[in-house]
Amino acid sequence: MSPPLLPDFEDVVAAADRLAGHALRTPVLRSAAMDAWVGAELHFKCENLQRTGAFKFRGAFNALARLDAGQRRRGAVAFSGGNHAQGIALAGRMLDIPVTVVMPRDAAASKMEATRACGARIVLYDRHADDREAIARRLSESDGLTLVPPYDHADVIAGQGTATLELLEETGPLDALLLPQGGGGLLAGAILAAGRLAPQCQVYGSEPEAGDHGRQSLRRGAVVHIAPPETIADGARAQHLGALTFALIRDGAAGIVAVPDRALIEAMRMFAQAMKLVVEPTACLGLAAARHGGLPLRGKRVGVVVTGGNVDLPRYLALLGAADSDGVDADLLATRSS
Ligand SMILES: *Cc1c(COP(=O)(O)O)cnc(C)c1O
Repeated sequence: MSPPLLPDFEDVVAAADRLAGHALRTPVLRSAAMDAWVGAELHFKCENLQRTGAFKFRGAFNALARLDAGQRRRGAVAFSGGNHAQGIALAGRMLDIPVTVVMPRDAAASKMEATRACGARIVLYDRHADDREAIARRLSESDGLTLVPPYDHADVIAGQGTATLELLEETGPLDALLLPQGGGGLLAGAILAAGRLAPQCQVYGSEPEAGDHGRQSLRRGAVVHIAPPETIADGARAQHLGALTFALIRDGAAGIVAVPDRALIEAMRMFAQAMKLVVEPTACLGLAAARHGGLPLRGKRVGVVVTGGNVDLPRYLALLGAADSDGVDADLLATRSS
């Protein structure tokens, strides 16, 4: 088998051109309270304010925008119960491409509603019995739909890289950059953007401690697969990196930090209090790593990508209320959604 073709910096620039006027150029915010809390100069790229409330719109739009006329007519298929579903549903509507999303039967009602509201067709599966990738592949083959995976795809990675491209255009070179990492599409894209615009910048991934497959993979020098992790970071419950994302992360990441759920709740509370931002648990991984990751950030200029803000309000309030207790309540872990 020939090695898969990796995207490069030029692909990120091309993605930025495709996204211009379609994705929002989200703000880069600063906070003196946050700087004091972490002991570094922090620059927050606020993708919780992106269309559909997460950066996933970038990669999904870029992948769909690259389809030819025939592929556009037949449509695209994705599997996701979360932000990739909403991202590709909206991108499909904007580009007039029919989209099918394979979602778990027990996905949060709000996420299913948001996906359906964009005109996507939803195919439900049973999380415990069915293989969602197999279902998506079958639809792809039987109906000629183009499969757009959530992270291990060159156009998706290049699209996600535009968040870091915009951040660095605004801040100039940074000393370090912290990004949440699940399947690694966002991190891989950031490595491409920073590699050219800020070659000295140390790019770190941050993943939930309960699902630290990225860290394990870097240690092992090969992609490590784990069981479904128990974490409130529902956007980072991928069970392994992809072939493309691993190759880019192995060669370009300064490291991967693993963060306990407790630190995510603390960071979520800081975002609300210090910056008036609603940030979903997964999107707190970067800030939590800055505070607790043991990284050499003191006095440094540090970029933090805030990846999304999609969290149901009752769950958000329950999580904020748990910030003072030591552990994370088992009920909160149980309310995690896909
Ligand atoms: C998908 C997602 C991530 C992780 O992105 P990967 O490309 O899978 O590493 C982080 N935060 C949020 C909010 C997400 O939706």
